[in-house]
Amino acid sequence: MSDLLRRTAADLAGLIAAGEASAREVAQAHLDRIAAVDGEVKAFLHVDAERALAAADAVDARRAAGDELGPLAGVPLAVKDIFCMTGAPTTAGSRILEGWHPPYNATVTRRVLDAGLVVLGKTNLDEFAMGSSTENSGYGPTHNPWDLERIPGGSGGGSAAALAAFEAPLALGTDTGGSIRQPASVTGTVGVKPTYGGTSRYGVIAMASSLDQPGPCGRTVLDTALLHQAIAGWDPMDSTSIDAPVPDVVAAARRADVAGMRIGVVKELGGEGYAPGVELRFREALDALEQLGAEIVEVSCPNFRYALGAYYLIMPSEVSSNLARFDAMRYGLRIGDDGSSSAEEVMARTRGAGFGAEVKRRIIIGTYALSSGYYDAYYGSAQKARTLIARDFEAAFASVDVLVSPSTPTTAFRIGERTDDPLAMYAADLCTIPSNMAGNASGSFPCGLAPEDGLPVGFQVMAPVLADDRVYRVGAALEGALASRWGGVLTDQLWTRESSAREIGARESGGTL
Ligand code: GLN
Repeated sequence: MSDLLRRTAADLAGLIAAGEASAREVAQAHLDRIAAVDGEVKAFLHVDAERALAAADAVDARRAAGDELGPLAGVPLAVKDIFCMTGAPTTAGSRILEGWHPPYNATVTRRVLDAGLVVLGKTNLDEFAMGSSTENSGYGPTHNPWDLERIPGGSGGGSAAALAAFEAPLALGTDTGGSIRQPASVTGTVGVKPTYGGTSRYGVIAMASSLDQPGPCGRTVLDTALLHQAIAGWDPMDSTSIDAPVPDVVAAARRADVAGMRIGVVKELGGEGYAPGVELRFREALDALEQLGAEIVEVSCPNFRYALGAYYLIMPSEVSSNLARFDAMRYGLRIGDDGSSSAEEVMARTRGAGFGAEVKRRIIIGTYALSSGYYDAYYGSAQKARTLIARDFEAAFASVDVLVSPSTPTTAFRIGERTDDPLAMYAADLCTIPSNMAGNASGSFPCGLAPEDGLPVGFQVMAPVLADDRVYRVGAALEGALASRWGGVLTDQLWTRESSAREIGARESGGTL
């Protein structure tokens, strides 16, 4: 394994800028890694080696010409397959979009390309980002590099698994109810959902527009901040984009200091029903932050208990409307267009065959919730609950700088374990959904391995709207405090494990990579 794979994105950019490694060499090392392990991990839906090497060559040429390179120029990137990107298929994990090539780039895609990041390919996700395990992908599940029989989280499990498997140092995700943070939590990686409106949704295939938010994923806090900075900021193409300066997340990640900060522990997130190892590592992380000089207080957010229920009304309502565009006429799949069938018949056949069960379930629930006569009882009540949740955050942030909780109630569960139980699947997002409902910034940071199963545990940091920098400050302080205990960042354990497995020439079946 090339040592370049283990380097942080910040290091790689430094090596490339200094001419100590070429962008081509870095890209090739990651492409080789993908070729070696992705048959088992299945993080990628599409890899374009030729394109990646051409992009890397362009960075090397710019360096040779003496051009100033940006802070991430030449660094490889995995892109969740929900961002439109020209010259490549975009499926959103759905068979209904198989073979579709978008005619334009998402704003986030354009920004990473302009920043000189080298796109390796598109990563797997639950169909239209609906799920918590990638098992709802129309193209088969992704496997968690910590234990190949476990889920890598979802919907952005492909991006998180690519990071943990050292297939890419950085990745893009989207978070509607936790799809960046929950996969980060269960793969021992970092993922941040920016403030709603902080990153552009233009060209991101819409799931639930009032909740969707693109964001950065990495193995270290600084790397994630660097990607955040590259993609964030106002975009006139997205009407909900915020026209305000981007918080200095990179400075915050470098500062990594929590002395004097007031950290509120959300009383309602944790305790009964949470895995013992999750509770243990979460409490240890709190102790570590206290030792660094933070003040830890308990805060009650009583309306968070409505979050999951309200989300599963608002989100499907928006899904039912957003997914109406897949009508067999405009995009992708068209089934049964035999010349004698009506447009409605073709549409019904195409949607029946092209959408998976979970997508259909949500379209049906959403259509019901929005139907006249039920609108006030369901959608209207859910919107009221959403306001109460936002008020809980406001009240809490009047007395604390950030709120914290475990990122997920459990570690990674087994593939297949929850596929027949949608409610158990939905419960994976219990801690992450409140921040989507209120639109505030929120991130997940690794805080150790649970003793009972040896799997990663995530620590969630929630900050007020447009205070994304605080998320990074706390995350970086935690990363620093835990480094000696876990031997660097958590994924370094996987690196060490795999290196020793290779030395003895063995890989257990169902084991880690
Ligand atoms: N798991 C949640 C859901 O299924 C969140 C998905 C997301 O954030 N895209 O809706």
